[in-house]
Amino acid sequence: MKVLVCGGAGYIGSHMVRRLSHDGIEPVVFDNLSTGHREAVGDATFVQGDLLERDDLRALFSRHRFDAVMHFCARSLVGESVQQPYAYYENNVAGTLNLLQAMREADVGKLVFSSTAAVFGHPETELIDESHPTRPINPYGASKRMVEIMLADAARAYGLRSVALRYFNAAGASPQGDIGESHSPETHLIPNMLCAANGDAPALKVFGNDYATPDGTCVRDYVHVDDLADAHSRALDFMASNEGAHAFNLGNGAGFSVLQMIQAAGEVAKRPIPFEVAPRRAGDPDRLVAGSAKARRDLGWQPRYTDIAEIIDTAWRWHRNARY
Ligand code: UDP
Repeated sequence: MKVLVCGGAGYIGSHMVRRLSHDGIEPVVFDNLSTGHREAVGDATFVQGDLLERDDLRALFSRHRFDAVMHFCARSLVGESVQQPYAYYENNVAGTLNLLQAMREADVGKLVFSSTAAVFGHPETELIDESHPTRPINPYGASKRMVEIMLADAARAYGLRSVALRYFNAAGASPQGDIGESHSPETHLIPNMLCAANGDAPALKVFGNDYATPDGTCVRDYVHVDDLADAHSRALDFMASNEGAHAFNLGNGAGFSVLQMIQAAGEVAKRPIPFEVAPRRAGDPDRLVAGSAKARRDLGWQPRYTDIAEIIDTAWRWHRNARY
């Protein structure tokens, strides 16, 4: 079996590539390296190209016969999406449309799509499950929701089978410590905390302490990147016996505030995380915690990493020896 991994040089994609190889499935990575890292791909077949270049896609699909596609390529920063909405719609929506058209031309009928909790907007319930309304409040979430709608249309019109996996907060790194999260500039909480712990960055900025949460800082649901990869593998199996377009929310169902994360990271790193309170960041809802019962039921998904200290510890191991 051969699977195209678009964005396989990125944080979550590179963990997926490793998982596929481990399962005896041949991954072919397609990535423009705008934010990904060639080193993260390891020995897998690598093709440098861009979803916005249809010729790149034609060449790719004429060279390989894929059984399925996993699509991790995206711009994914909420704040940036508010500043540069066209870049988000071009990359995330138009780029995905190019991919879908190339798949159709090549008669490839299965897709696992990286979606996000940002499709929901402001939470109306404590746990966000798939029945929660989708009202994105920023262009990033809107771009992902648009693709989900395209996938439903493609299922009806062309019989495309798809699974959209809505990640809550991807976290941690491979326990082997040789691949992990690396963005430039880094904006995410866990790497920023660990940089502050290491002295690689000044004190962590806590974006807002006046949210409607117990300690005033934002609450998020951190899910390990290898558990996300596991859900993708299960989604592949699921599509073998299920037609149509499906969506699943992926999280541990436990919320941690920024201050709780600082405390946990300090214990893992065995040193306090220096921090200061800064103004709120645009587009951050108070609390995002997943209801993942559907993924557990229909995919048989059971996250292995449920202890936040263990999740942070895998990130810390990577962070101390980061190769890229
Ligand atoms: N956050 C923070 N300081 C940082 C980075 C993030 O206080 O340097 C907060 C952010 O406001 C959010 C949470 O940590 O409430 C998680 O943010 P991250 O960027 O990691 O993920 P997101 O929730 O945006 O997907």
